[in-house]
Amino acid sequence: MVTEEQVLEALKGVMDPELRRSLVELGMVKDVEIEGGQVRFTLALTTLACPLRDQIVSQARAAVSALEGVETAEVALREMTAEEKKHIGIGSPEEGGIAEHLNDIRRVIAVMSGKGGVGKSLVSSLLAVALRRQGARVGVLDADITAPSIPKMFFPNGAQPGQSPLGILPAETETGIKVMSINLLLPSEDEAVIWRGPLISGAIKQFWGDVFWGDLDWLIVDLPPGTLDASLTVMQSLPLSGVLLVSSPQDLAGMVVRKAARMAERLGVPILGLVENMSYFVCPDTGQRYDVFGPSHAEETARKLWIPFLGRLPLDPQIARLCDVGRIEDYPAEEFAPIAERLMKTAPAARGPLLR
Ligand code: ADP
Ligand code: MG
Repeated sequence: MVTEEQVLEALKGVMDPELRRSLVELGMVKDVEIEGGQVRFTLALTTLACPLRDQIVSQARAAVSALEGVETAEVALREMTAEEKKHIGIGSPEEGGIAEHLNDIRRVIAVMSGKGGVGKSLVSSLLAVALRRQGARVGVLDADITAPSIPKMFFPNGAQPGQSPLGILPAETETGIKVMSINLLLPSEDEAVIWRGPLISGAIKQFWGDVFWGDLDWLIVDLPPGTLDASLTVMQSLPLSGVLLVSSPQDLAGMVVRKAARMAERLGVPILGLVENMSYFVCPDTGQRYDVFGPSHAEETARKLWIPFLGRLPLDPQIARLCDVGRIEDYPAEEFAPIAERLMKTAPAARGPLLR
């Protein structure tokens, strides 16, 4: 005769497709009863409105039916109690962080610069693309609430986040990069967000705690320019592996980079390196290389700050074009691959626990 242990063992192989853990591990299997070849058990789901309910039930029934000695397998359903939900990390929205406990994010990198327009969002995107090309599971959190620009680079036809009982589901790009941005939540792309500091901080915290990212190898956080509230929030409340600094050759004295670096340092967040964007231009007709903004000082700045210099990106009209049509994933980014590789080698795993 089949035993309860065997039934549970069989159900260990059945996953909740949303939570991506086994039904047994999630404590969803209740009241197993065995009478001869007849097995009955109850599945306690996070919500009875679960769209994947039937799939879960039929997989559970199949797994148990396959056991030797089982003639029939009967599945009853109920909803988890609040207490049971809490146990697996699903609380009421007021408690915040519904999804947070279910996410498994290995490394969180914030991309930062002293001023706007130097290509932070571009570097965030190219980093995500490069890591994705290596087969990593990647997300991009657009923490620039007042000037969000990530969705425009990735989605030629716009995108919408999904909803699930576990939290907001990020939009997914063509190659499978998960993206969350205030832009995806606003009715129109041109809707201006005139929010004050605390609201902005709240939105960023929600993008971390209420978005169901799932399992990610890398989460790239695109910060707004400068040392504003948003950057502070990210550095203080997200378990960052480190900060990637972006500069342009126009920052002659490296002053803005130093300012950003000082902030990271003061908050105890490691700086993973410096990337210089718009470093040079290669004339497509002649192959001649021009230092449009004069000679670069990035290497020297990095050396003075004792941080690794990771590389340079050219000024490339193709970049601007692809960004504008939402096709940044098509950019070959030869110059960026070695930068990403260097970063992959040095970035430490996410620091635990959150300082809320
Ligand atoms: P930031 O996030 O620092 O404000 P963005 O990444 O949004 O800056 O870049 C500003 C603009 O400059 C964008 O329109 C982008 O397409 C363009 N851009 C950035 N880097 C390059 C580059 N290396 N070559 C060409 N255009 C670029
Ligand atoms: Mg930006």
